[in-house]
Amino acid sequence: MNCDKNKELIQLYVDGELDREKEAYIFTHLSGCNECRLFFRTLNTISLNIRKEEFPNELETRIFNSLIEKETKLKNKFFTKAFVRAVSYAAALFLLVASIFLYGQVNDYKLITVGMNQQIKSQAQTIDLLYNTLPPTVVQAKFNHEIIVRAKM
Ligand SMILES: [Zn+2]
Repeated sequence: MNCDKNKELIQLYVDGELDREKEAYIFTHLSGCNECRLFFRTLNTISLNIRKEEFPNELETRIFNSLIEKETKLKNKFFTKAFVRAVSYAAALFLLVASIFLYGQVNDYKLITVGMNQQIKSQAQTIDLLYNTLPPTVVQAKFNHEIIVRAKM
């Protein structure tokens, strides 16, 4: 078995640079090879100790950046929420004003209609009165286009 190649893979695994497929292969190999298992254990212990001692600057920067990013996202979210809230309040206010205005319009029309109805009623009463005060008439038409209208008394 080519354990030099496997040790390279173990090195990559410990550095976190091994892909999933090879990871499965190397674990299978470790279960059956004492030499590689010892190499893995040693390398892993060293790696863990190094990680404990060194806190890489890059990591600090990454954490800091991600915090800033999160804060910005939160701020943006807040602004978006505030904006949406403002827009919905404005829309509600607009609808309220519009409905008050339309209600006024409808009321005006209603008043106009009532007034017109009264006018029509009084005109009908006048026509009735005039019609009833006129004496009944008899209308006769003759063949020579002569029309005779006579009051029936
Ligand atoms: Zn091996």
